[in-house]
Parts: sequence; C-alpha cells; structure tokens
Amino acid sequence: MFRADYHIHSSFSGDSNENIDDIVRQAISLGLNEIAITDHLEYDMLGLDPKEWTLDLDKYKEKIMKLKEIYKEKITIRHGIEIGVQPQTRDYLESLVEKYDFDFVIASNHGINKIDLSNGIIQKGKTRDEVQKLYFQTILKNINLYTKYNVWGHLDFITRYGGKEFLGIDLKKNLDLITEILEKLIEKGKGIEINTSGYRYNENRVYPCFEIIKKYVELGGKIITIGSDAHTKEQIAMDFSKAYEILKKLKVEYITTFDKMKPIFRKI
Ligand SMILES: [Zn+2]
Ligand SMILES: [Zn+2]
Repeated sequence: MFRADYHIHSSFSGDSNENIDDIVRQAISLGLNEIAITDHLEYDMLGLDPKEWTLDLDKYKEKIMKLKEIYKEKITIRHGIEIGVQPQTRDYLESLVEKYDFDFVIASNHGINKIDLSNGIIQKGKTRDEVQKLYFQTILKNINLYTKYNVWGHLDFITRYGGKEFLGIDLKKNLDLITEILEKLIEKGKGIEINTSGYRYNENRVYPCFEIIKKYVELGGKIITIGSDAHTKEQIAMDFSKAYEILKKLKVEYITTFDKMKPIFRKI
C-alpha cells in the first residue's frame, strides 16, 4: 500500500517544536513512502505576532532540499507549505508560492476578516449555523480568488472551535454552499485532503466528514491527499487506517502526491 503523509508541521511553524530531522526519521521508521512538510505561512491576522506565524522561507527550503538528498534512497520528501488564505492576502501569498517553487501547497481557511477561528471571537453572538455559513461563504470567496495551490485543507474543520454547541456540520443546511465549493475545486483542477487530526481533537472523524468526501468523489473529483496535520513526530500518519477505509468504501483506488505542484496518482 502506498502511504504518504501530506500534512506535517515542524519547528519552522510557530505552533510546532518538532525537529524536522526527527520527523523524517520517524516517517522512515513508520515505513511511509513519501511525506510533504507543510509548515504554516499565515499573514495579516490580527492579534497574531507575525514572528509566531511567518516562516523563514529561505532556510526552510534549504533544509528540506538537504534532507531530500540525504534520505532519497529511503523516502521521498516534498517541499510543501500550508498557506492561510484570506482575500486581501492573495497577491502576497501567491507571489511567495511562485518564488519558492514548492512541490505542494495546501490552501487553508484559518481566519475570517483577519480573525483566527480558534480564539472564539468569530463565534461570539452567532449560532452554529450562522458561523458555518459565514465560514463556507468565506471559503468560496477564497476559491474564486486563489489559483496557486493543490488541495483545500481540512475543509469543514470549523466545528473544532467555539465549544460544544459548535460541533457537527448540518449538511442539509450547508449543502448548496458545500456543493458549489466542491464543484469549483473540481472545475479548477484542485483537490481536497483527508485530514485525520479530527480524531485527536475528539471529533471522532476526519476533516472533511465522510459525506463531503463522498460528494467530491461523486461530482468527479480525483485529487485526494491524506494528511495527519502532525505537529509532533508521534502524530505522523496517525489514524491513517481510517482515511484508507473511507477511500475503500468510496472505491477510490488512488491517492495523489505532488512534484513541483504536478499531481502523481499513486495506486493504494
Ligand atoms: Zn490548518
Ligand atoms: Zn496544518
């Protein structure tokens, strides 16, 4: 079985302390065929110290290129990035994506109107449905703007924040928006990831949920990566068996990896 963890953070990200060499060694010891290091590149978010979230893109690339060479007989390492998309940061982020010539880019919506979703401010005074509608509308806006990425990150992870009353997606209420998002992604040749971190955040599911992955496949979507969103080496490839079970259920026989942003379909 081809196993690739396509969402891993190292200490180059503000929110991880994991040594990047240890990440590679752990991935090799787990027998993975391939990994993409996808550290955070966040920009123009209120209340976040830029030092915490921006990353030294020169050093980052240099380090990954070195590791790529050292371990090339044992594992394929890809130079990836997770960009935190917002409408007003499109030109800046896409200029960096072009400049650094990444193998793989995840576009993730971590904030709305410059406010990080994790701090609860967006959720205040709103119902779960209002928050989710706003979140999916924001994603749609960003999908219409951004072009330089490969997959959309953790598509419905909005449920992770705001407390118990914000858990769970009401698919019926959001179906039109979600369908439009998936159709746009497919039309633009973009994929989704199956992000297994939901199990670590006590949601007992992957992001996005099974029904959304199913819909993407039914609509003709072919590009799917699997990522643990690991912030420590122990989290690498965690709960991957659940992601593979979903693919099996949906009769999807391939996962996607990327080289210089060109998809490679790997039989699983
Ligand atoms: Zn993310
Ligand atoms: Zn991440």
